[in-house]
Amino acid sequence: MAYKVPRGTQDILPEQTPKWQKVESILRQLSHVYRYKEIRTPIFEQTELFQRGVGDTTDIVQKEMYTFEDRGGRSLTLRPEGTASSVRAYVEHKMFGNPDQPVKLSYMGPMFRYERQQAGRYRQFVQFGVEAIGSSDPAIDAEVISLAMDIYQTVGLKDLKLVINSLGDKETRDAHRTALINHFRPSIGEFCSDCQNRLEKNPLRILDCKKDHEHPLMQTAPALTDYLTEASAQYFDTVKKYLDVLGITYVVDPNLVRGLDYYNHTAFEIMSTASGFGAITTLCGGGRYNGLVEDIGGPDMPGIGFAMSIERLLLALEAENIELDVEDQLDIYVVAMGEEAKLKSAELISSFRTKGISADMDYVDRKLKAQMKSADRLQAKFVIVIGESELEEMSVNVKEMETGNQEKVPFSELVNYLLEHK
Ligand code: ATP
Ligand code: MG
Repeated sequence: MAYKVPRGTQDILPEQTPKWQKVESILRQLSHVYRYKEIRTPIFEQTELFQRGVGDTTDIVQKEMYTFEDRGGRSLTLRPEGTASSVRAYVEHKMFGNPDQPVKLSYMGPMFRYERQQAGRYRQFVQFGVEAIGSSDPAIDAEVISLAMDIYQTVGLKDLKLVINSLGDKETRDAHRTALINHFRPSIGEFCSDCQNRLEKNPLRILDCKKDHEHPLMQTAPALTDYLTEASAQYFDTVKKYLDVLGITYVVDPNLVRGLDYYNHTAFEIMSTASGFGAITTLCGGGRYNGLVEDIGGPDMPGIGFAMSIERLLLALEAENIELDVEDQLDIYVVAMGEEAKLKSAELISSFRTKGISADMDYVDRKLKAQMKSADRLQAKFVIVIGESELEEMSVNVKEMETGNQEKVPFSELVNYLLEHK
């Protein structure tokens, strides 16, 4: 029996992890400069949290959750996204009482969704996301959007498109909802069974249907933007003004509705426009969720956030042929000839490592030539060969692999030499 990773999951192999670590470090650095402090919540939560927080009528809750019963008979779910957990923690730890609002959180970690596997769609994937809870200032909407854009620009992506929309407030949504029901009801029989169920429960979801998106009634459906209240329209205008001063280019798409129930006012997505990126082009999705904190049992505090997967970010880099500048240098490889030389190598390597110099040697008894080949394959910056004469002279030729230059350095000076030249 040959074991395989579960469908929709992947091993990230040692050759690939430096790339991941680079992205993760950029994410941490940008969270730091934008002041979004990391929160780490459990990988699983009470199922109800997601039913309530993500929404009963969403694809995530209806079809995609990994739900199980634990030995105590509780229904638990592997988290499919990070907002519900962040908001739960915000409420549970009474962060609404924090004198500094909004509370700005970031998270990074695996999410789980039972989805059909395809490029850019996994069953376990790593999301980075932020939440700013406790402010309904349009300036924070722009800040959140600019952080997301900054991330993609910092990794070097160029073919990006930011799409924004306003989903309005409750009054907007109610008026639009009635208009949608009237629009779709006469022909709802032509739509998929999901859409039929959505008609009364959450007609906005119909616009987000992946099966029926070609239906002519989709094109003529009443647009949310036509139902924006005065206050909502003004809010949206101010968000755009802030984006303008931040120098962020965007496209307004009145058909943008996000897949989760909790959004209102600002909604946005960032897509890759790189040719060859494939069918799934959305890199990041986010929006405002005033009302969610209250839904989850807290006070009436507004919030906004986004989430992006590292998997799709890496795919976008590939599509644009961008190689990240990863740091994985082997500073020195020590080749040893004979038992005594090997003892010396071990000692030297240890002295290198305590000074932060990355160093390696042979542990499978290879001949000189094979050891040199290893040093080459591992792309060591320097190589030294220790044999009898080196032991006698207590010094060694340090060879820089790229140039072939050699310099004789006493053992006692090696650490300093490497620190200077690595
Ligand atoms: P989609 O329309 O692609 O299914 P979604 O609306 O379900 O996206 P969100 O729940 O908003 O996506 O998640 C935010 C981001 O997380 C997406 O833009 C994408 O980068 C990433 N993401 C979502 N699902 C997956 C997945 N199955 N595999 C990899 N990344 C994912
Ligand atoms: Mg999805």
